[in-house]
Amino acid sequence: MNVKKRTPPIKLLQTEALLQRLTPPNHPKRPLIEKDFRKRKAGYQGEKTVDYHVSFLTDKKYMIFSDLRLPLAPDHFQIDCLLVTPCYSLLIEIKNIAGTLTIDPEFNQLSQYYKGVETGYPDPIIQATRQKIFLQKWFFNNKLPCPPIEFLVAFSNPATILKMAPGHKRIPPYDKMIHAQNIVSEISKLNNRFTREVTDLKKVKRLLLNQHQPPYPKILSTYQLTEADLTKGVQCERCSHIMIRKIGTWLCPNCHHLSRTAHVKAIEDYFFLIEPTITNQKLRDFLHLSSAKTAAEILKSLPLTKSGSTKGTIYTK
Ligand SMILES: [Zn+2]
Repeated sequence: MNVKKRTPPIKLLQTEALLQRLTPPNHPKRPLIEKDFRKRKAGYQGEKTVDYHVSFLTDKKYMIFSDLRLPLAPDHFQIDCLLVTPCYSLLIEIKNIAGTLTIDPEFNQLSQYYKGVETGYPDPIIQATRQKIFLQKWFFNNKLPCPPIEFLVAFSNPATILKMAPGHKRIPPYDKMIHAQNIVSEISKLNNRFTREVTDLKKVKRLLLNQHQPPYPKILSTYQLTEADLTKGVQCERCSHIMIRKIGTWLCPNCHHLSRTAHVKAIEDYFFLIEPTITNQKLRDFLHLSSAKTAAEILKSLPLTKSGSTKGTIYTK
């Protein structure tokens, strides 16, 4: 049973918005941002592949949480997929890496061979073991009995070839590296291994959902960009040209497209790229609006949370 469904990761949405607004069109950072965008998109597709495989676990004793981010001093930790059952919990770390992958337990490294290029990655088993320790601490901090915590590293691309380095056998913990389509059979093995009920599902569900904190990465500073690298204004949904406001409507001077709602996307872009709150003044500046009254009407029409006094009212998504 899926308790927390996956939505597109904010970093993917931010990167998409950034590519739409990055100026000039031949900005030197564009190739890097486009490459990251493709990587993040493929990563999200891979995560959805895993969601598909776990969607067969419809029994109420399985609680599936996709993409959790939990507080743990001094920071947070993020889980790609968590399965909570009455008898054990299972962390699934999702990897979307194409090509032939060789794991070397001696050097704790994963090497990818793809299209004639070799690339190194950290040992995913070490990464997943760290996640397991974080989750144990989380149970402890919340004064909950800690269930047995297992983990799997699931490779979402079925064409990926997994290999052990020469001279090494696939022995534990490396047997936890699997293709995503084998997740369900691994889970039935765990069901046979763990039969003692230790987890109060209702309580754990409530705590996990309450404590989940979506990230808000500062995408501009990630790429050492500033607001000056962004095109401001309401972009035409047909040709991306900047539109002008005419009697309650947006008009594209390039393709003559008319829209009453084109500002919604622009305000979303502002929230993704600049900050998660906006004021009347900042909205006018970003949308190229001269009238505070129009800006107020637009803000009122959107499902935003208001705080602060009249002049300094802050609107939050
Ligand atoms: Zn247009």
